[in-house]
Amino acid sequence: MDTGKGLLFVLSAPSGSGKTTLMAELLKSDRRLTRSVSMTTRGKRPGERHGREYYFITPRQFARERQRRLLLEYAQVLNNWYGTPRRFIDAARRRGKDVLLGIDVQGARQLRRSGYPAITIFIQPPSLKILHQRLMGRGTETSAQIKGRLALAKRELRCVPEYDYVVVNDCLMDAAEQLRAIVAAERCRVRTSLTW
Ligand code: ADP
Ligand code: 5GP
Repeated sequence: MDTGKGLLFVLSAPSGSGKTTLMAELLKSDRRLTRSVSMTTRGKRPGERHGREYYFITPRQFARERQRRLLLEYAQVLNNWYGTPRRFIDAARRRGKDVLLGIDVQGARQLRRSGYPAITIFIQPPSLKILHQRLMGRGTETSAQIKGRLALAKRELRCVPEYDYVVVNDCLMDAAEQLRAIVAAERCRVRTSLTW
């Protein structure tokens, strides 16, 4: 059941494409937007904080969240579990906030299938070569992990046609501008649920 007034924007991107950077750009300039914080069983990267980038929990805690049906969607990505707590999104949307949610292609597919109203956007790197450079530049993964992420990126890129929009993150400011335009257009869209 849909409980909200605010919109849900779902962003997917191969790891290293710049999704986190772009989401931060949008949040800086738009006070009506808020970001959903996911739960994950992966370990913290240097500089990450519990409750800010993710809620870092154990596989056992994650299984409990799933069993209690507290997750809007969840998926296993590169051997770790990730999931979206439903309560925050519903509450934010009820307050009229638009929510940004960064999730992988499996999660976006689950959301679509569930019928939860969402606008889906795929962030695409300009090329696999540049994606490789960005992952190396970020310096948060080993070369084996980078190899795994690149192989996954090739599979994820095939899912672009499932999305409502695609934004190529070549120049960061141009990509951010395109995202702002999508948000603005969706806020102007005529929706049948509007009541007077
Ligand atoms: P993701 O969240 O998709 O995994 P990040 O936002 O962490 O990706 O970005 C990966 C790396 O690429 C970071 O070091 C970031 O600073 C850099 N980056 C992001 N967007 C751009 C861009 N348009 N041009 C150059 N570097 C970028
Ligand atoms: P990272 O470990 O690099 O932060 O994220 C790895 C992948 O997990 C990315 O594709 C990211 O979008 C995805 N991810 C993060 N949170 C969630 C979530 O709550 N659900 C799903 N399905 N994927 C997520």
